[in-house]
Amino acid sequence: MSKGNLSKIDNLGRVVIPKSIRKALNIEHNDEISMSVEGENLIISKGYQSCGICESKDIKFQIGKKFLCFKCVENIKDL
Ligand SMILES: [Zn+2]
Repeated sequence: MSKGNLSKIDNLGRVVIPKSIRKALNIEHNDEISMSVEGENLIISKGYQSCGICESKDIKFQIGKKFLCFKCVENIKDL
C-alpha cells in the first residue's frame, strides 16, 4: 500500500482522492463510497458496507473491520 498522498480538506469539508488511488481501486465518477472511523483513522471504502454474513446493507454493528446486520447479530446471540 502506498502512503504519502497528502491532500488538504477545503472549507466545505471536501477532499480530492488522488487520481492514482482512484485508478488503483477502480473508483469512477459518481461511484459511491462509505466512510468510517477506525481509531484515529478515516477509512474510505468503495460502495456501501455490507454484512459479512448475509451481505445485507442494513448495517448495525462493526467489529474490527467487519460489519454485521441486526438480524445476523440476533441469530448469533441465539446460538
Ligand atoms: Zn447479516
